[in-house]
Parts: sequence; C-alpha cells; structure tokens
Amino acid sequence: APAIVWLRDDLRIADNPALNAAVERGGAVLVLFVLDEVSDGIRGLGGASRWWLHQSLESLGTSLAELGVPLVLRRGAAAEVVPAVVAETGAGAVFWNRRYGGAARAIDTELKTTLRADGLDVASFAASLLFEPWTITTGAGNPYSVFTPFWKACRDAPPPRGPLPAPTAIEGYAGAAASDAVDDWTLEPTHPDWAGGLREAWTPGEAAASAALDDFLATKLAAYAGERDFPAEEATSRLSPHLRFGEISPYTVWERATRARAGLGGAGAEGTTRFLTELGWREFTHHVLFHAPELATVNWRREFDAFPWPPLDESALVAWQKGRTGLPIVDAGMRELWTTGTMHNRIRMVVASFLTKNLLIDWRLGEQWFWDTLVDADEASNPFNWQWVAGSGADAAPYFRVFNPELQAKKFDGHGQYVKHWVPEVGTDAYPEPIVDLGETRRAALAAYDVVKNQP
Ligand code: FAD
Repeated sequence: APAIVWLRDDLRIADNPALNAAVERGGAVLVLFVLDEVSDGIRGLGGASRWWLHQSLESLGTSLAELGVPLVLRRGAAAEVVPAVVAETGAGAVFWNRRYGGAARAIDTELKTTLRADGLDVASFAASLLFEPWTITTGAGNPYSVFTPFWKACRDAPPPRGPLPAPTAIEGYAGAAASDAVDDWTLEPTHPDWAGGLREAWTPGEAAASAALDDFLATKLAAYAGERDFPAEEATSRLSPHLRFGEISPYTVWERATRARAGLGGAGAEGTTRFLTELGWREFTHHVLFHAPELATVNWRREFDAFPWPPLDESALVAWQKGRTGLPIVDAGMRELWTTGTMHNRIRMVVASFLTKNLLIDWRLGEQWFWDTLVDADEASNPFNWQWVAGSGADAAPYFRVFNPELQAKKFDGHGQYVKHWVPEVGTDAYPEPIVDLGETRRAALAAYDVVKNQP
C-alpha cells in the first residue's frame, strides 16, 4: 500500500521529514496538495499568494516528476479530500509536516484520529519551525510574551537539528490517482494580468530559494546588520516568501548561515547574529499564533478593544492602498508592494504606523490589504507585525511611538533613491498634497490612546 505525503506550507523535496519518512517506510509514494478554501477558519489566500502558489506547485511538480513521483492536486475540504485520496489509492500511510494555525491544527488532529482508526500509519513532523511552540515556555510553563527572553530560551534549548538529506531515489506511486491541473485552479490573474511586476521580481520554487540563500550569504551577510534598514540597498535575503511556502526550510537556512559565519570571521559575526535573530522573530510570531489563534482579528492585548476607532474614511484608505497619500515614503512603499508583492521591512513599519496612527484606520484593514498583496503574507507574521506596530500586539512598540514618515525618510532614504524610484513625480504638480497634517493627527491618535491607557 502506498504512502501519501500531504504537503501544505512545505513545498520542497530537501529537508522534508514527511517525505523522508515515506521513503524510509518502503513502498510507493505519492505527494498530495489540497487547495482548501472551504474549511471553517481556513483563511483563503490573497491574490499575490495565489500567484506564488501556482508557480511553486508547477516547480515542485516538475522536480517530483524527475524523481518519478506523482504530485496529486485536489481541491476541497481537507477533512474529506485526504480520506478520499486514501480510499482511491488504497494508501497505507499518510505523513505530513505540522502547521500551527488554530483551524489547521484542528483539521490535522481530527484527520490523524480518523485515519488511525481506519488502521493507517499516520505521523506528523517538525519542519517549518526551528522550535516547537510547546517546548519553549517560561519557568512557570507559560508562553513568552516578550521577544528577548523568548529568543534567549530558544538559544538555551537544544540547537536545531541539521537539515535532512533529500532522497535521491523514490519509488513513485504508479497507480491511477485523479488530479486537477494547476491551471484549473485559476490562481494566476488573467483579466487584468497584474502579475507582471511579480514575475519580474521573483522566481518561486525550491531551486530559486536555495540560490537566493546562497547569494545572500556570499554577498550580503557581512554587511547585513548595518544595511538591513535602508530600503534602497539590496541588503536583505528576500527569503520570506520562500520560507512562507516552505520552499526552503528554516533548518537549512540556520545551518548554512551558521556555516557562512565561520567563513567570514569577525566581520560576519554581527551580521549572522542579526540575521538569525530575524529568523527568531519568525519563530516568535508563529509561537504567538499557536497560543492566540485569533491573532488576525482579535487584539492580543485585550485592553485595545476599547480603542475608539473613528468611522472609516474610505477615501483615506484608498489613498493609502494606491500610494496617493502625499507622503512620499509611504507612497513609495505602497507602490512597491502593489508592483512587486513585497515591501522593505522598515517601510512596512512606516506605512503601518501611518495607517493606524495618522489615519486612525483599524490595523485589521491594513493587515487585510497586506494579506491580499504580499507574496510572503503569512498567517502568523502578518497579523503579529500589524499588531506590533499598532501597539496591541505581543512585545509591541509602545503606542505613543508614532513614526514620523518625513524623519524616517531622512534617516533611511537620505538621498531619496527609494522614493525617486517608486514615486518619480515627487516635487511636480502631478503629486498630491499630504492628505493629513502629521502633527495634528499624531495628537489625535495620542488622545484616542488615552482611552486605552485609562482603562480600569
Ligand atoms: P530578512 O531581513 O532577510 O530576514 C530574514 C527572514 O527573517 C525573513 O525572510 C523572515 O522570514 C524573517 N523575518 C524578518 N523580520 C521579521 C519580522 N518582523 N517578523 C517575522 N519574521 C521576520 N513577514 C512575513 O514573512 N510575512 C508577512 O506577512 C509579514 N508581514 C509584515 C507586516 C508588517 C506591518 C511588518 C512591519 C512586517 C511584516 N513582515 C512579514 C516582516 C518583515 O517585513 C519581512 O519578513 C521581511 O521584510 C522579509 O524580507 P527578507 O526576507 O529580505 O528579510
């Protein structure tokens, strides 16, 4: 009886424990991906992520075909589709790598129980996080709510395992298994085709992910700590969408970065520590999600439920989305996002602060826009970071820290290179006046925050 490897956020062959387990079990293997847009609580992918998924599945399908392993694509509720594929193929085992969102975990737990009750061999593995959320707790056994002690506890824990070797020979399942074609899913935009900028900016897939990591380590790691905040520099790894879809594992990133540090000597130490700490933030957001599954909708600090959001100003929201606020650094970021599906981290903080504090628009609306437009949109990192900027999140920036976009531009884009690239009409009549007064809106935001602060 064949084994099914059910892939989800782990679209790779290398360092894939579920795949390795299927190979070690002996017998034929088939790989399954289920596009689940219907199960309760599963958040449908945004437009940019759908585009990425299409390319990533094509790339995976090609690599698996070279190994003689079928990639079966099915659509529907996972709790029904997985047992259906088991029945159709007579599978004797189902293996997967864990995911950490609340609804996803509920589905997986239930499936594990029902498939085992049917006599199948079912196992799940750690593959997408370096540290399992239930293993990193305070002395009192509680989850951490502050990053620094969290990351210290991770560093004091047994170090992450090394990446597993990719299987070189797999017995592919040769029987019939109905599969959709990825084109059937219309994940790519057609009318209009807005993905031109995405195609230019990115190459999804496992091989490109590995190449991006190697390039970053060879040419950027040493200067990373000093340059990562400057949006005009190409100083960061651009690994986030690859990590989001699991085209590369954090174990591989960890191991290769640690090895690169040794090769760089003193200069590399600071860059590597900083880079690994950013991976630590990725871990933290997922651990927070694990313990607070409603992260995308509910204030992590519940006292923010009292925040007096004014009625929504639709035209301000649209100006922000389209990059027409009249604040050049904000507009540059929002246009970069729309065109390429990403935005530099420093500018993400600036535009999020501007939306929530200068425009007094609920962070959930910003989070939703990012969800739809980012290629790295992630169920943990996106709401976590939005709440972090808004002040309602775990280890959040204090609410009274309102980024001043003009000062941020001076500090991090001093020569205006980034702004000029994305907002070439700055300084001409074609460019709008600022839609708000920064000083006035800052004072209004602080007054609104008093309501939260003065909660009993
Ligand atoms: P690098 O600087 O090379 O960092 C390496 C890796 O560390 C990243 O690929 C990412 O996986 C991780 N990382 C870095 N910073 C963070 C962070 N603050 N939180 C979590 N992980 C981090 N990141 C996402 O992956 N998905 C999101 O949906 C997302 N939404 C965000 C929303 C807002 C409002 C803000 C302020 C930040 C958001 N981030 C998100 C975090 C960060 O901006 C991106 O991870 C980063 O810009 C990706 O570029 P890079 O891969 O070149 O990062």
